[in-house]
Amino acid sequence: MRFVSCRLMSPAVSDLSPDPGEIATLVALRRDLHAHPELGFEEVRTSAIVKTFLAECGLDVQAGIGGTGVVGTLRGRAGGPSIALRADMDALAMPETAERPHRSTIPGRMHACGHDGHTAMLLGAARALARRNDLAGTVHFVFQPAEEGRGGAQAMVEDGLFERFQIDRFYGLHNMPGIPVGRMAVVPGAQLASSDRWHVTFRGVGTHGGKPHLGRDPIVAAGQFLTSLQTVVSRGTDPIQTAVVSACAIQAGDFEALNVIPDDIRIGGTARAYSHAVRDRLEAEIGRVADGIASANGIAADYAFHRQMPPVVNDDDATVRATNAALAALGEENVITAFPPSTAGDDFAIFSSRVPGAYVWLGNGPAQDGALHHNGHYDFNDDALAHGIRFWTTLVAQELRAI
Ligand SMILES: [Zn+2]
Ligand SMILES: [Zn+2]
Repeated sequence: MRFVSCRLMSPAVSDLSPDPGEIATLVALRRDLHAHPELGFEEVRTSAIVKTFLAECGLDVQAGIGGTGVVGTLRGRAGGPSIALRADMDALAMPETAERPHRSTIPGRMHACGHDGHTAMLLGAARALARRNDLAGTVHFVFQPAEEGRGGAQAMVEDGLFERFQIDRFYGLHNMPGIPVGRMAVVPGAQLASSDRWHVTFRGVGTHGGKPHLGRDPIVAAGQFLTSLQTVVSRGTDPIQTAVVSACAIQAGDFEALNVIPDDIRIGGTARAYSHAVRDRLEAEIGRVADGIASANGIAADYAFHRQMPPVVNDDDATVRATNAALAALGEENVITAFPPSTAGDDFAIFSSRVPGAYVWLGNGPAQDGALHHNGHYDFNDDALAHGIRFWTTLVAQELRAI
């Protein structure tokens, strides 16, 4: 893939950079959000702050979308595209174990994924862009609730996000420890895996443990299933593709009744893939193996595959646009175009599977004390704020044909 350098047609980077006073204000805001973390769909305080901030910038604000979601809309001249930028607002149900001035004030709640930083950066970008009068098109600043497994993106979609707002392209950004501050990774293709749950229940006929021939043993079937399950990836998936299938829970019988073969055994697990085709294949193959094992044992199998989150797969055209913005904002030497995908998930995928989208990684610097995402010592790096804002403002300026 070739990327067009925008250096020659871009204004000086400093023209798109927030001034130090504005950065200090946003750092204070970010730390205030960090000190007051809220779980998914409970972001009442956070979304009120976001709503007020956007309104004071002069944007059209619609709150309460999908629960606590907020969208601020900036309209430029007619004729340009309509794009959306996403920040997530929620925290995690875990204690903050680090001592720091802006430590969480709420027991058992923590911003351990840097969503406080995402929110502050997108607000900073909104304020910078609201001051401009050279944009052609529309930008929607989307503040999403409940990214951490509670279905905030889906809730916004079900509340009419795509009917209420024209969105041609959707962009998401996440901080990444290990990438130096001032650098970004913008990579085509798969970024994050799908994340789905599956359940199998083998229904046999319970009997006396000493007389197995009088029943149909579901435990033996479960043992065969767990070993055969490994072939779903090793034999049933294209070796060039990546997939994960794990059994993570199993339940049957009673340790107080070790002379009883139970009627049923229940198994559950996770399935992950980086493409829609492999995801479909995993759903079919796990069920096929369960049915086959059940049939061989003369019992029944109930199978359910619960689709939770699609993979995040960057659209080629949107990736080129994001790359060009990163090149102009941070300089060629600071843009990484090859970076391994993660087996974590992000429900930004719900947005980017409806319209073309790109999801980019912003450097958060070295992992402090070895703390990565979802660790009790993790913190968003305030030094990254200005870089993230410059990326967002450059992307909008390029998309809305101001430069
Ligand atoms: Zn997270
Ligand atoms: Zn996150």
